[in-house]
Amino acid sequence: MGLESQIQDTVFLTTLDKAVNWGRKNSLWPMPMGISCCAIEMMATLCSRYDLARFGSERLSYSPRQADLMIVAGTLTWKMAPVVRKIYDQMPEPKWVIAMGACLATGGMYDSYSVVQGLHRIIPVDQYALGCPPRPENLLNAIMKIQEQVSRETVAEPSGED
Ligand code: SF4
Repeated sequence: MGLESQIQDTVFLTTLDKAVNWGRKNSLWPMPMGISCCAIEMMATLCSRYDLARFGSERLSYSPRQADLMIVAGTLTWKMAPVVRKIYDQMPEPKWVIAMGACLATGGMYDSYSVVQGLHRIIPVDQYALGCPPRPENLLNAIMKIQEQVSRETVAEPSGED
């Protein structure tokens, strides 16, 4: 038996990016930022019927230092916006954001001076789960899209000039 066929049968080869991204995408630790009614559907997504644990994301992190996925759910007022931004800033890189609900996409029905007309005005948004409120399946879909996004990440950036 040649060396090449022995290696094919016994050695699993991958790249650093694929190995790290596989671990990351299957163990996202969400920071639940429930700020109004959409948060009820976020809670439903965690329960046994929808079972977020299937995606390895059931471990919610109430400390931003130990979270890599912020799920913002609800109506964002300008009064609350600095708090959301501060918590986002406290999360270490790499990190991703899901905006849940029509209010966070466009302000929803609140075309008002007091409501932020889209979460993207405060922090970068990776995925939207749309609806008023979005169903748990919609949030699961957004999480699966984040997983796809994580799969495409490059782990080690080439170092710049010293
Ligand atoms: S999108 Fe609808 S359910 Fe969600 S926070 Fe806005 S009003 Fe509430």
